[in-house]
Amino acid sequence: TNFESLGVSKPIVATLFQLGIEKPTPIQEKAIPLLLEGRDLIGLAQTGTGKTAAFGLPLIEKLIPEERRPDNRTTRTLILAPTRELVNQIAQNLKNFLRKSHLRINVVVGGVSINKQQLQLEKGTDILVATPGRLLDLVARRAIGLTAVRYLVLDEADQMLDLGFVHDLRKIAKMVPKKRQTMLFSATMPKSIADLAGEYLTNPVTVEV
Ligand code: AMP
Repeated sequence: TNFESLGVSKPIVATLFQLGIEKPTPIQEKAIPLLLEGRDLIGLAQTGTGKTAAFGLPLIEKLIPEERRPDNRTTRTLILAPTRELVNQIAQNLKNFLRKSHLRINVVVGGVSINKQQLQLEKGTDILVATPGRLLDLVARRAIGLTAVRYLVLDEADQMLDLGFVHDLRKIAKMVPKKRQTMLFSATMPKSIADLAGEYLTNPVTVEV
């Protein structure tokens, strides 16, 4: 299997090739076609399996042909992750895949200047990668709105619950439109994650690697 046969477009395949990414990993093989179809998805996969590309490439494929962001205070894509390190890692990974496109990625994490983040957000956002707490702070400041979110990713969902983000996740889920595509990734599938998935995903397909 190669990326093209999974539905990834030629320019992105070329970018991946330059990054030394030629053969899809198992999670990519399973998830990419389903996500391109628009399905909600539960991915049981650990870091290091290539899961960022598994959700990131379909997102980029969907965002590129869409119209430019309608305004500078909303984002179409929201990726939530438990830690600053993970958020930065996801954003860096996605930036590598974007290369020549006009899509803007912004990062929102705690522990650094909120004012600087607010200024960054004012330039516009297509993909927002965030930790839940700081995101809610910036929403409260009206630095970013979530009413235009059409793609929602919950990465390392088990870790987000372990770190006590369940209430923040609930608040955020109430702010995003019901009509959206949602992806949840987790290394483990305890009942709490199954409940979370039941709450936030619609008719999801589960892929496991
Ligand atoms: P992740 O599991 O998403 O954190 O990815 C781990 C690392 O593997 C990242 O540096 C990716 O750029 C890289 N990677 C992702 N997919 C592939 C692939 N199909 N072949 C080789 N490397 C990959």
